[in-house]
Amino acid sequence: QAKESGRNTLRFFDPKIQQELYLQAEMESELRRAIADEQLVLYYQAQTYLGKITGAEVLLRWIHPEKGLVPPGKFIPLAEQCGLIIPLGNWVLETACRQLAAWADHPELSKVTLSVNVSAHQFSMIDFVANVERVLRETGAEGKLLKFELTESAVLIDVDSTADKMMQLKDLGINFSIDDFGTGYSSLFHLKHLPVDQLKIDRSFVRDINEDPDDLAIVQAIIAMAHNLGISVIAEGVETEAQKRCLEKRQCRHFQGFLFSQPLPLDQFENCDIDIFNYETA
Ligand code: C2E
Ligand code: MG
Ligand code: MG
Ligand code: MG
Repeated sequence: QAKESGRNTLRFFDPKIQQELYLQAEMESELRRAIADEQLVLYYQAQTYLGKITGAEVLLRWIHPEKGLVPPGKFIPLAEQCGLIIPLGNWVLETACRQLAAWADHPELSKVTLSVNVSAHQFSMIDFVANVERVLRETGAEGKLLKFELTESAVLIDVDSTADKMMQLKDLGINFSIDDFGTGYSSLFHLKHLPVDQLKIDRSFVRDINEDPDDLAIVQAIIAMAHNLGISVIAEGVETEAQKRCLEKRQCRHFQGFLFSQPLPLDQFENCDIDIFNYETA
C-alpha cells in the first residue's frame, strides 16, 4: 500500500475508497478480537447418504456484538488477505476436533464425520500437518472422523508438496473432499496423483440441473469422473426433491443442502431428527 500511494496518491482522496479502506481496517481489528472474545461459533450442516446423516460440514459464523450474525462470505476473504485465516482456521479445527471427542461415547453421534473447510493459505503453511497432528493428540479426536474440504486452487498451488501433505494426513486417518468441484481448473492428471476421497459438486451446477442441459452435462461428467477414479461424490446446495431425484438417477447418493437441513447451531444439530447412518450395519 505504501508503495502504491507514492504513484497513485490521488486515489486516496476518493471518499468512497477511503471509506472502504476504513471499514476494512475496522473489521480487521474487530475480527482480531473475535477469537479471544468468543464471538465465533460453528454451525453444522448435515451430509446424508441414503436418507441418513453420515456427517456434517462445519461452517464458521461470527456473532458480531453490534451487527449480529455475519456470514463467512463477508469475513473469510478479508481474513485470507490479512493472514487472520490462520488463527481462525486453527480455531475451527480445534473446535471441530473437540466436538468429535465429545461425541465419542454418544450412542449415535459417535460415528458422525465432520468436514472442515481448509483455506489454501492455511493448507500451504509449512507446519500444517504438525499442527493437525497436535490438535488430534490434544483433543483425542479420531482422524478418520475428520474430513478436509480443499478447493481445486488450494490443491494446485504446489502439487508435489500438496500430495506429500495429503499422504501424511491420510496416515492420520483424515479424508479429503474437493470443494466447489467444477469451478476450478484441476485436471484429471492431478486428481489421479492425489489421495482424494470425494468430489463435491458445486451448488452452481446443482441449482438449474433440471432446466439447464449444460449444467446437467457437467454434473454427469463429474459423477462419472468420481466413479472412474473410484471415489465418492457429494452434491452441495440440494434444495428440492426434483434436484435430488435427478442426481439420484445419475448415481449421486451423497447430499448436502437445505432440502435435508440448514446449517444448525450445535444443540439443534444434535437434536435434529434425521437418522444417523451406520456403516457397520449397512
Ligand atoms: P462452502 O464450503 O462451499 O460451503 C457451502 C455453503 O453453501 C455454505 O455457506 C452453506 O450454508 C451454503 N449452503 C448449503 N446448502 C445450501 C443450499 O441448499 N442452498 C444454498 N443456496 N446454499 C446452501 P456459508 O456457510 O455462508 O459459507 C460460505 C463459504 O465460506 C463456504 O463455502 C466456505 O468456502 C467458506 N467457509 C465457511 N466456513 C469456513 C471455515 O471454517 N474455514 C474456511 N476457510 N472457509 C469457510
Ligand atoms: Mg465446504
Ligand atoms: Mg462447497
Ligand atoms: Mg460452494
